[in-house]
Amino acid sequence: MASPDPALLSLNTATVRERWNLAQMIDGCARHGIRGISPWRDKLDELGAQEAARRIRAAGLTVTGLCRGGMFPARTQAARRAAIAENLKAIDDAAILDARCLVLVVGGLPAGSRDLAGAREQVKEGIAAILPHARACRVPLAIEPLHPMYAADRACVNTLWQALDLCDALDPKRSGALGVALDAYHVWWDPELEAQIRRAGRTRLLAYHICDWLVPTTDLLLDRGMMGDGVIDLKRIRAWVERAGYRGFHEVEIFSVRNWWQRDPDEVLATIRERHRRCS
Ligand code: ZN
Repeated sequence: MASPDPALLSLNTATVRERWNLAQMIDGCARHGIRGISPWRDKLDELGAQEAARRIRAAGLTVTGLCRGGMFPARTQAARRAAIAENLKAIDDAAILDARCLVLVVGGLPAGSRDLAGAREQVKEGIAAILPHARACRVPLAIEPLHPMYAADRACVNTLWQALDLCDALDPKRSGALGVALDAYHVWWDPELEAQIRRAGRTRLLAYHICDWLVPTTDLLLDRGMMGDGVIDLKRIRAWVERAGYRGFHEVEIFSVRNWWQRDPDEVLATIRERHRRCS
């Protein structure tokens, strides 16, 4: 299979978050010929959305997504309303950045709860509540299904199938306002993956995140691998995604407390470029 277009490479800022601030990340992308960037909101707060948008535009970068909205389920009505208010703000920031989407990590079980079905219902209600504002701001919402090991504390939407059912329920006309962020790390194991990518199609595939699954994985959250160092058949998944009509960026998102976060970010970005070409 042909190597991916290097112009489609994007940096999720989590990958270098321990050593660089957002301004350094923007400069770093420009220096390494990386054309896309996906900031997290904590980093965005360093500069403010307006100033960040100005610098990102000046560097010629595309914002491939803003991370993140979501975290809808909560024990009380008031907390659920606060989560929705926070999401509306995130949509505003994404609009200022002209982001391709706002990524939704939907949230897990409220503290002390065992009601997974109830949490999933709260997610549906939360997305329904923010969708009109997202439409008005022209910010597509991208539901990111997370690996089931995060169902309790991060996201109770765990497969692409489940995320697409939500999309179909809330946006039956496939308007483009609601879709998915497909992260290979979270979904590579799913026997339904190819079929569900086909089902998603171009209108629902809003972002594509890559890294690798290490064997063994020593930390549930912070031990993601560089492309090529693990067991995910990234070329095959890219082929499925492209066959479904996706032409967007390939966003590299690596949480790696003991390895990549320890290294010089310039080395990390150079490695990303090389592995993107060779291993994804
Ligand atoms: Zn992701």
